[in-house]
Amino acid sequence: MNRIYNFAAGPATMPEAVLERAKNEMLCHGTDGMSVMEMSHRSKMYLAIYDKAVALLKELMEIPDNYKILFLQGGASTQFASIPLNLMTVNNKADYIDSGNFAAKAISEAKRYGKVNVVGSTKDIAYARIPVIDESKFDPEADYLHFTTNNTIFGTHFNQVPKTKAPLVTDMSSSILSRRYNVNDYALIYAGAQKNLGPAGLTVVIIRDDMLERTPMEFTPTMLKYKTMADNDSMYNTPPTYGIYIAMLVFEWIKELGGVDAIEKLNNEKAALLYNYLDSQSYYTAPVEKDSRSMMNVTFVTGDQDLDKKFVSEAAKAGIVNIAGHRIVGGMRASIYNAMPKAGVEALVSFMDDFAKKNPK
Ligand SMILES: *Cc1c(COP(=O)(O)O)cnc(C)c1O
Repeated sequence: MNRIYNFAAGPATMPEAVLERAKNEMLCHGTDGMSVMEMSHRSKMYLAIYDKAVALLKELMEIPDNYKILFLQGGASTQFASIPLNLMTVNNKADYIDSGNFAAKAISEAKRYGKVNVVGSTKDIAYARIPVIDESKFDPEADYLHFTTNNTIFGTHFNQVPKTKAPLVTDMSSSILSRRYNVNDYALIYAGAQKNLGPAGLTVVIIRDDMLERTPMEFTPTMLKYKTMADNDSMYNTPPTYGIYIAMLVFEWIKELGGVDAIEKLNNEKAALLYNYLDSQSYYTAPVEKDSRSMMNVTFVTGDQDLDKKFVSEAAKAGIVNIAGHRIVGGMRASIYNAMPKAGVEALVSFMDDFAKKNPK
């Protein structure tokens, strides 16, 4: 076995300890006599796993009692529709911040169901920073304000929560559990699992009780109603059982490391290694403005597309894979989620330095 450093943006690298554990339990989970994959989602043995996943996430993120944790399917992209269908139902209007490609997708989906008021956008500067929000643009009747905490493709992060009276709804797909967030700031948090939580196919929604009181639009599919899922502990139908089990193992792994604060410290160190290197030289440029930098997705370019391509292919030969930027941006992007070891980032920085010396511009 020769595992390589996988800097993919998602599905992304997983903690090796979690994979080992899953491997050991693949054929037979504990004394249950079967694989987790084979368990009925209504069985006692599976419910023990499910309850543990909920309890651990609640503990790690310090989720207050007036929130429900839902384990859904359909990826973060399905939430782009579920959110307006369930929540844009008081005044049929919502504020949205356009900070990247996924934010724009959320906006275009929401527009199908109501009036969307875009309160800030950095599209014209290729999303190189988080928009400066002009609070006078907020609609006082907005049913919520939607924003994307971490912009996976561009490598930017909201270091301040937007200040609005409207309930805050956020897409935390690429930064959930990477650092401390105050759940009380939000009415709804959602995240696809494949960046920081586990395998693709699982979506986590953390929703405040008062949001469950809102009446969904009349034509909302039953499967997309938060209340249906909350009333049935996410088991209105068969939930993504194996994905939930792996996420539970990831939560345990984080807890054993010392919880979110310990992970945040590690993530800070990893990001600092890369950004300090980027700031110390002139061969590579980091396009994101400093105060918007993401700790999870670090973007950089050489300024020469052919060299960028060469970088990506030579890196792969050195065991550093999936470092190409998103197809709409180009350049390079290192996704350094929780599971990326510090040694992986050190290997990347050393490769970058080497590449710069061997390929003068
Ligand atoms: C990956 C990602 C998405 C899309 O997630 P899917 O699970 O593929 O639907 C949405 N938002 C953000 C911020 C992401 O990083």
